[in-house]
Amino acid sequence: MAPARPLPAPDHESAEFWRRVGAHALALQRCGACGTLRFYPRALCPECLSDRTDWVPVSGRGTLYSFSVCYRPASEAFADRTPYIVALVDLAEGVRLLANLVDCGPEQARVGMPVTLAYDDVADGATLYQFRPEAGAA
Ligand SMILES: [Zn+2]
Repeated sequence: MAPARPLPAPDHESAEFWRRVGAHALALQRCGACGTLRFYPRALCPECLSDRTDWVPVSGRGTLYSFSVCYRPASEAFADRTPYIVALVDLAEGVRLLANLVDCGPEQARVGMPVTLAYDDVADGATLYQFRPEAGAA
């Protein structure tokens, strides 16, 4: 039997992010001083070093910036998923995320394609975010 997929391990800075993902509501940190959105979650704004933080929901819409098709799994836990796509997605809000692109074969993926957020409840209390082609895009 394949080992279990690795799951998110929220820490103090990312716990709120993962709690919202678990509720199928992706949100990003926004600096309370200068308004910069940031990802990944962290304590200080990379622009102005303020620790004032708000959480703002995002649209979940974006475009595929780049991607890699994995024919060799990163670990045995992913062996039955190959080939799978690891994607860099630019959200409409201007932040770039790394996630799997699903419901899309390697031959259908293309840079610039519109994608939309999806969720995968992988285990009790653990949800991953991913992207799929927007309807009609693939
Ligand atoms: Zn700032």
